Amino acid sequence: MKKIALFPGSFDPFTRGHHDIVLRGLNLFDEVIISIGHNTTKKNRYFDIELMVDKIETLYQANPRVKVVLYNELTSSLAKKHQANYLLRGLRNTTDFEYENTISQMNRYLNENLETVFLITSPQFAAISSTIIREVHRYGGNVREFLPYEI
Ligand code: ADP
Repeated sequence: MKKIALFPGSFDPFTRGHHDIVLRGLNLFDEVIISIGHNTTKKNRYFDIELMVDKIETLYQANPRVKVVLYNELTSSLAKKHQANYLLRGLRNTTDFEYENTISQMNRYLNENLETVFLITSPQFAAISSTIIREVHRYGGNVREFLPYEI
């Protein structure tokens, strides 16, 4: 049976830290599905969703084991749809841990076949966060260094 993992997140934007988790996830799973949570009724993103899908798809175009999907439902239900038994998440610090712990417990309650697999951030990416990148970009700062593609 194929080992399929969802990598769920907002990816606003998708960073080098996320890219690192995907590449390392490919060593563990046959397929990694980058799943961008997106509420179609709320326009609360900073980076355009279509732009982000395009950038991520281009980044992995040579790798058929990476897919990108948009979703607007429970992550646990999306996993069932894609026959994914794993959720892939990254951990940078204890703040991430507190948050991830709760989500992971809930996801397993909702779908008992779903195991969350956490990868500890690579040290060179530990300080990269989508929130900080949005702030820097908003005020005209250069964020190229933190993204695995050009914007
Ligand atoms: P969410 O919107 O669910 O908080 P994000 O889009 O910010 O998710 O991130 C998705 C996942 O990637 C989360 O598990 C987050 O902890 C992880 N992540 C984010 N930045 C990094 C990084 N620099 N290194 C490792 N993991 C990261």
